[in-house]
Amino acid sequence: MGLVPPQDHGKLAQKLGIGLNIHGFAQRDPFNFMESSRPGIFISGAFSGPMDIPESVVSGIGAGAQASQILKGRREKLASKRRYPPDRDITKEEPRVGIFVCHCGANIGRVVRVPEVVEYAMGLPCVVHSQEQIFSCSTDSAQQILDAIREKGLNRVIVAACTPRTHEPLFRDTLKEGGLNPYLFEMANIREHCSWVHSREKEEATQKAKDVIRCGPLRCLKAPISALHKDN
Ligand code: SF4
Repeated sequence: MGLVPPQDHGKLAQKLGIGLNIHGFAQRDPFNFMESSRPGIFISGAFSGPMDIPESVVSGIGAGAQASQILKGRREKLASKRRYPPDRDITKEEPRVGIFVCHCGANIGRVVRVPEVVEYAMGLPCVVHSQEQIFSCSTDSAQQILDAIREKGLNRVIVAACTPRTHEPLFRDTLKEGGLNPYLFEMANIREHCSWVHSREKEEATQKAKDVIRCGPLRCLKAPISALHKDN
């Protein structure tokens, strides 16, 4: 596996204008294995030489990081042009919590009974909206969150999905787009803490997901609302 160049690699290399070595693998910089013979095109995995799975993963991450470096300036330029609406003053509003429960494809959905959790979440204090999403971090799911903020007047949002370490900034940005202070957002980790660690105990994983989600509104409701508004 991974010892011979992939099929049709010649056509792909020609199309991209990158060179191949005498063994038929992509030519690469000896000091940067992810760099092809053409600036701006990066290579990874068995296209650049015999490679096993862990090495392919590392080179894939490296190639992604180097492509990202090139796009950095462009992203910052786009972000600086972005305009957010002013934060809605919610100091006099009753709490209205929206909960979005992610399937993460099958990652969560094959263990945790998501529809049951959605129904449970709807019964929690101050919750006025609860729905399931296949991939909460996708663009169409962000639009669903925005629509719910506007149509249901949500003033706190919880996404029950994965670790906040990766996607929390993304969801906070969605709140800003919806005119809400981004710190009115909480994440409940029902993937790493439930479906991944209890993959063989579906009943317990579902129960734990409900418990983890129940803490979300409690944390949201403790947000020092008047302080959040002073900051703006
Ligand atoms: S938000 Fe997290 S749990 Fe949901 S689809 Fe994205 S990565 Fe998976």
